[in-house]
Amino acid sequence: MRLQNTVALYADETVASFASRLAAANGIPSITELLMDAEHSMAGFLNGDQKTFNTLAALGGVTLDDLTQHAFIPTGISTYRCMGHELGMRNLLRGRSRICPACFREDKGPELTPDTALGAYGRILWSLASARVCPIHRLSLISAPENTVQHEFSDTWSLWLPEIGEGSLDQLVAEGGLYEEHVARRLAGDILDGWASRFPIDALGATCEMLGISQIYGKYAILGGISGAELAVATSVGFRFLDSGPTEITAYFETLRRALGQPQDRPQARYGRIYDWLKRGAGSGPELEPLRAILRQHILENWPFGGRRSGARLRSYIRRLHSIRTAAKTHNLHPKRLRHILTDSGIITEADLPDFEVLFSAVEAQEILEQASGAVTFSAAQKRLGMTRSQMETLIRAGILKPGEGGEKARPRFTEATIQHWLAFFTSFRSSPKWDSLISIVDAARKYGSSTDRVKGLILDHSLTKVYSVKGVIGFSAVVIDKAEVARLLVKS
Ligand SMILES: [Zn+2]
Repeated sequence: MRLQNTVALYADETVASFASRLAAANGIPSITELLMDAEHSMAGFLNGDQKTFNTLAALGGVTLDDLTQHAFIPTGISTYRCMGHELGMRNLLRGRSRICPACFREDKGPELTPDTALGAYGRILWSLASARVCPIHRLSLISAPENTVQHEFSDTWSLWLPEIGEGSLDQLVAEGGLYEEHVARRLAGDILDGWASRFPIDALGATCEMLGISQIYGKYAILGGISGAELAVATSVGFRFLDSGPTEITAYFETLRRALGQPQDRPQARYGRIYDWLKRGAGSGPELEPLRAILRQHILENWPFGGRRSGARLRSYIRRLHSIRTAAKTHNLHPKRLRHILTDSGIITEADLPDFEVLFSAVEAQEILEQASGAVTFSAAQKRLGMTRSQMETLIRAGILKPGEGGEKARPRFTEATIQHWLAFFTSFRSSPKWDSLISIVDAARKYGSSTDRVKGLILDHSLTKVYSVKGVIGFSAVVIDKAEVARLLVKS
């Protein structure tokens, strides 16, 4: 039953390409006619019908297994299986024959005639909608300049041999091809290290497009108006970024979050189309969960809202990542000095990245950050601020004196910045000539049956207007207030 002339089934060839070449090699103009001669239909072929495939395997002299592997076999209403990969219909260009003109020229050898053209075959990679560049030649994958019958590879391209031979269909996309290279290797069975290998090859393409467009054209950009070649470059950019993994991706979300915007902007506006796409658009499927998880974590760690229900939980989160910028701010260190310290201690590697993009584990760096910032222990803070333990404690409870990172609940620590802030505050008031009318915070609290934090609150919210500093005294006891004024406020309340 084998046909007189057979063609090789290449490792990365589609079944449609193979059947089309087999027909052409035997002088039959199309797959449809080849199948009709054997009493089968094109519909059976496209649906992966086993009897049709049995016949085709016999005609072509290949095994049924081999043939089935290379076909897009339906597994659901809109999904197919090919080479062991599950692929969504919307991510495939199944019927359209695309080629890389340079691959085509190489396949057929030095001469390009209708006979040698039979050596040229259609790659499975070229059927993926997000594949736009040949990973070997960096040429755009092109469709035939005029529409022809779907699935008929040989018939379609036999009309364009002169143009393919002359290179007039060649379109170089030098910066593209990273996504395509990755897919070609996975289709060949390679196991790859990068983060991109966590995603199915088809959804990966759509994700790389989305991320690349956002990076190059801005977070609100849409596909319309972007050429195929530009899209190919964007997909490559998106791939390089996604493949580098969660740290890079978090850093990007961080740059979006920090970009200029209205203060009332919610995540939807801050992150642009990616947010909607992952949340309820084409990217909301389970296959993109790893990426969605990063965005979710990033939002949890950075947005002080989330409804009343989750508010408390969000406020008490433990910071997991610092950037040089956030750590410098928290610990009152100069970013440049901080970068040196972190590099010296091996927590970050020397990299030419801006401060907000250099990310590291906050837990791992905690001790070094505290040493560098001269984090102040509770007892040291107490001494320097001139307060008793219980005064410190009531001020902390009232939220007036804020512990820094590090330490624990029983023994909180304070940043040097906090101590400096309060020392400056205590001595920031003018001196008064009328010492008789003044009273210290501690004495006022005792005399009027109130507490130090209550009195301090009155100073901070400017209810007390007559506040003075005693020259030469450092810390808490430097502050004195007007007896009559504090009496009026405390007795009234
Ligand atoms: Zn090529």
